[in-house]
Amino acid sequence: MDVKPFKNEPLTDFSKPENKKAFEGALNKIKSRMGREVPLVIGGKKIKTKDKIMSVNPANHREVLAKVSKAGPEEAEKAIETAAETFETWRYSDYKERAEFLLKAADIMRRKKHEFSACMVLEVGKNWVEADADTAEAIDFMDFYGREMLRYGKDQEVDQIPTEDSRLVYIPLGVGVVIPPWNFPCAIMTGMTVATIVTGNTAVLKPASDSPLIAYMLYEIFEELGLPKGVFNYCPGSGSEIGDLLVEHPKTRFIAFTGSKEVGLGIVEKAAKMQPGQIWIKRVIAEMGGKDAIIVDKDADLKAAAEGVVASAFGFQGQKCSACSRAIIHKKVYDELVEKIVERAKEISVGPTADVNNYMGPVCSLNAFEKIKKYIGIGRNEGRVVLGGEVEEGKDGWFIPPTIIADVDPKAVIAQEEIFGPVLSIIKADDLDDAIEIANDTEYGLTGAYYGSDLKNIEKVEERFFVGNLYINRKCTAALVGVHPFGGFNMSGTDSKAGGKDYLLLFLQAKTISRFKGLKPFKK
Ligand code: NAP
Ligand code: MG
Repeated sequence: MDVKPFKNEPLTDFSKPENKKAFEGALNKIKSRMGREVPLVIGGKKIKTKDKIMSVNPANHREVLAKVSKAGPEEAEKAIETAAETFETWRYSDYKERAEFLLKAADIMRRKKHEFSACMVLEVGKNWVEADADTAEAIDFMDFYGREMLRYGKDQEVDQIPTEDSRLVYIPLGVGVVIPPWNFPCAIMTGMTVATIVTGNTAVLKPASDSPLIAYMLYEIFEELGLPKGVFNYCPGSGSEIGDLLVEHPKTRFIAFTGSKEVGLGIVEKAAKMQPGQIWIKRVIAEMGGKDAIIVDKDADLKAAAEGVVASAFGFQGQKCSACSRAIIHKKVYDELVEKIVERAKEISVGPTADVNNYMGPVCSLNAFEKIKKYIGIGRNEGRVVLGGEVEEGKDGWFIPPTIIADVDPKAVIAQEEIFGPVLSIIKADDLDDAIEIANDTEYGLTGAYYGSDLKNIEKVEERFFVGNLYINRKCTAALVGVHPFGGFNMSGTDSKAGGKDYLLLFLQAKTISRFKGLKPFKK
């Protein structure tokens, strides 16, 4: 197979009228199919259920984008059984063919790029630029893991002794239950699903209940490509209703999860318990929450720092695992920078993101809205509200304006718990050592950034700031596949490093084979 080296998918320039027009066309296309019915797909069979998940537009929750069939225990059971049966053939498929499925799927998604992005604008409230980046990342995952499989599929290096021929090959695990979040509804969902499939496993994808439509659009790509039935089973359902069944099923071999700490820890615990008939130790890949910080030192470029803090805190309404929810600022520049951050954040426009001019859209669901409101209430007593802090009720969309709370104690609730919304806590530090201590003092360790100019201090931060993804003099969001393998420490998860060279290993196991000399050597 002739495969060019991996390159990140470029982002769309919406200042060009032709791109803007094309995107508007895609939005109209998604809108024109509003209310469509989406089935479950198990073993290639489309199944309609009475019970539905309503995929609604968070900017106007009267708008139902899709009525998605909803798996109950019976369908979930069937999905695992089907995936287990299909594994018996798919496990022996040619790795090059599997890689090709991903590369071709990337091409199809590239062609339909704006449709995928437009779906996210309407299904979860991403703005155009954020949605475009999410789709680009999904394309990257397919392009990257497809190429990675070509590397892992080959015989790996082992030492040889005179009496034997030895080799090591990577083989798949079995049925993978894939449980993504709604916040990168295309990229993370795609990444975990295609990593499962390309390595020769079969997948039961249970998308997040707030973003089932975009997941179906991915399914449709693989259907179009003729992926064998039963390899990719699309099984939307409520996590609290069928999650346990999927995780605990004795035929489930591994779980690829991204989401909250609470749900992730529950999965780790349930997967650890042997079930009757189970003959393996389940593997759990669990990427979870964050309480990410940006440290700004006394010698930082304050304008750049303010820009980075605001972009990281309020991009996609702060609903990123990598979002900056704490700005830790050296006391010497504290007042000046707080003012700059507030001034910059005041420029943010809030409203339905179908309008390209709105930077911040609604938060994803009523649940999210209520939870964030509760934290803002707590925050009012834990610091000085310098921006926002008021939430308008009774609107058609779940809008929360950027909220900034200064003078927050490092141990305060809003400085420790993941809020997952547009709420930034600002903390004052005495010096760099104090700032690093504060930054590391949560149970999480996902992303972080540092603004400062002294090389010695930068080196210190690089050594001591304990996060899976650290950035110097830039924002703490926007990891690129291949460039910034992504995953966190401590309660942020298993550090799987999605988009990196080690990632596919998590979906494989190694088999060592040695032939006593005298037989024909192995075919390479
Ligand atoms: P969530 O509430 O934990 O849900 C994640 C997924 O788990 C959803 O598909 C959900 O299904 C499912 N689920 C819920 N209960 C379950 C159960 N008992 N058993 C099995 N599955 C269950 O998280 P979210 O609100 O979607 O996403 C936000 C969280 O994800 C944040 O904490 C964020 O930091 C984290 N995140 C982490 C990363 C990372 O790389 N570290 C990346 C993105 C997001 P339902 O939708 O049906 O409930
Ligand atoms: Mg929605």
